[in-house]
Amino acid sequence: MTLTGLHLLLTYKCLFECDHCFAWGSPRQSGTMSLRQIEDILEQVADLGTVEWIYFEGGEPFLYQVVLQRSVQTAAAMGFRVGIVSNGYWATTEDDATEWLRPLAGLLQDLSISTDRYHGDRDISEEAENARAAAVALGIPVNFMSVAQPEESDAAQVSGQLPHGTSGVMYRGRAAIALVDRTGRRQWDELTECPHEDFRDPGRMHVDPFGNMHICQGLSMGNLFEEPLAEICAAYEPETHPVIGPLLQGGPAELVRRYDLSHEDGYADACHLCDAARRLLRARFPETLTPDQLYGQLE
Ligand code: SF4
Repeated sequence: MTLTGLHLLLTYKCLFECDHCFAWGSPRQSGTMSLRQIEDILEQVADLGTVEWIYFEGGEPFLYQVVLQRSVQTAAAMGFRVGIVSNGYWATTEDDATEWLRPLAGLLQDLSISTDRYHGDRDISEEAENARAAAVALGIPVNFMSVAQPEESDAAQVSGQLPHGTSGVMYRGRAAIALVDRTGRRQWDELTECPHEDFRDPGRMHVDPFGNMHICQGLSMGNLFEEPLAEICAAYEPETHPVIGPLLQGGPAELVRRYDLSHEDGYADACHLCDAARRLLRARFPETLTPDQLYGQLE
């Protein structure tokens, strides 16, 4: 396994509670990285020698703006390419957005702004427009990230098209609870592969404020605060892993079969069944199916 990108979930906290959020971002969430933890992570990543990109995301990373700014400076000084994912709440006006972004100019290679009708009542929010204009003026590469509504995602499966820059809903995280009643169902035993993750060679991973290394949100391959990153990567054996192995061999349906789990007849998609199966398996694999924050247990 060659890790080329690491995404730091700087915090689980967010101003919003979007229905599609697979990190369960919320004002009620807990868990935020400290500067020292981030520096430790970056040093471990540098020692690994394979990672090109570092992303800061959440939750909403700009809630901890000083920590974010310092961490971007550190990562850039270490030679990483650096990106941020934000909902742009801070871009009240273009002038204000310019001041928020000015310390990051010349350090960021990507600013991804999440904007869609989960975050507000418009596809592109005024704040997102302000953030984009300010980023362009400062020479920061910027793009919008949008997720379609369930009905639009269903229609796109027929037409094969969503608007440029928009992706379909994945029914994992909060979406596995909040959005599944707005789409149809597929037979559980047809959901025989994970459509989104490359378990054999993941390439990029997420690390959360508790040190968990997520191969998919809520599916941890080790804890970076307890074990060196290089050892976690070296010890990774997807085929024999008790959760990843079945997912590789037959998708979420194989998880159900392997552990003889109770199930319904139909699910919105593979992620929906995966989420349901993993919830039933959490007590058996508590260190792998963690933390509570990613299973919707908020404070
Ligand atoms: S099927 Fe499971 S492992 Fe794959 S992307 Fe969906 S939730 Fe993640």
